[in-house]
Amino acid sequence: MATIGFIGLGTMGRLMAARLLKAGHIVRAHDIVSASVDALVAQGAVKAGSIAGAAEGADVVVLMLPDTPDVEAVVHGQDGLLAHPPPGRLIIDMSTIAAGAARSLASAFAEKGVAWLDAPVSGGPQGAETGALSIMVGGAADAFATAEPILAAMGTTIRHVGEAGAGQTVKACNQLICAMNLQAICEALALGRANGVDLALLREVLMGGAAGSWMLQNLAPKMIAGDASAGFRIDLKLKDLRLAGEMAFAAGLPLPGLALATSLYLEARAHCEGNNGNQGLFRTYDRMTNQEGRR
Ligand code: NAD
Repeated sequence: MATIGFIGLGTMGRLMAARLLKAGHIVRAHDIVSASVDALVAQGAVKAGSIAGAAEGADVVVLMLPDTPDVEAVVHGQDGLLAHPPPGRLIIDMSTIAAGAARSLASAFAEKGVAWLDAPVSGGPQGAETGALSIMVGGAADAFATAEPILAAMGTTIRHVGEAGAGQTVKACNQLICAMNLQAICEALALGRANGVDLALLREVLMGGAAGSWMLQNLAPKMIAGDASAGFRIDLKLKDLRLAGEMAFAAGLPLPGLALATSLYLEARAHCEGNNGNQGLFRTYDRMTNQEGRR
């Protein structure tokens, strides 16, 4: 069993760290919100009052932070991981951040003899709670081999997809599919509703055919019920679409579906829905179809 520093105990991180505890690992927990640390300590974690404290004596440090600047803040600075790497010389960043930043961080740590893996995840809080995440890992093969038994406590599909940054690239592809799938579900529900179909029945029968998907399974019931609670916040979804868009722009790649989905999520955020779950995109379709009053 390993000693694991875990930094970032939000919607996903607290559930993933709990899986590590259940698997018998020692978890040194840190977050800027001390109540989140206390909640994990109640489940058996060791409280770490600082970033360096999380890394102290650890075989590996796992990060689950919102965005690129948050990860960079935890790395740089007096108390940061670059100055205080774990003795096990392995860091696994499971946040979704820019692929270019992941490459820069991997090479900055490589100079110090520390391995950095980018290992973003898919599967939402449900997958985090049950240890059924899909984990896409970029970085050195030997570091992946060391990380794999630890990742196995959090995910069921765990793949080494290439060198540093490759995990983040695959995650951007994942988010592109999720965003356009969710948009397609919004349009199907709007069309069914306008034609008087029972939406719960529509969803049930579509799940059994070629239109079935994770989004239709897990988020469509919330959309039908008018439940916009997060889950995965629209602000984070927009961050991911921006990352995919920047990657496409850098490659000179036209991705019109991505551009349209991004605009629709921006519409949602303009209506102060950034903290709602990403299934709240259906409210954009309520607005566009003059159905806001029908809930
Ligand atoms: P979140 O905002 O709920 O949690 C992030 C946590 O990081 C918070 O507890 C916050 O206090 C902490 N944090 C921020 N800056 C910190 C710092 N400098 N030091 C220590 N702690 C700090 O986000 P989340 O939903 O758990 O998502 C985390 C990452 O996983 C994001 O990159 C997101 O895109 C990705 N992701 C989320 C989901 C989901 O369904 N929520 C699914 C897959 C991937």
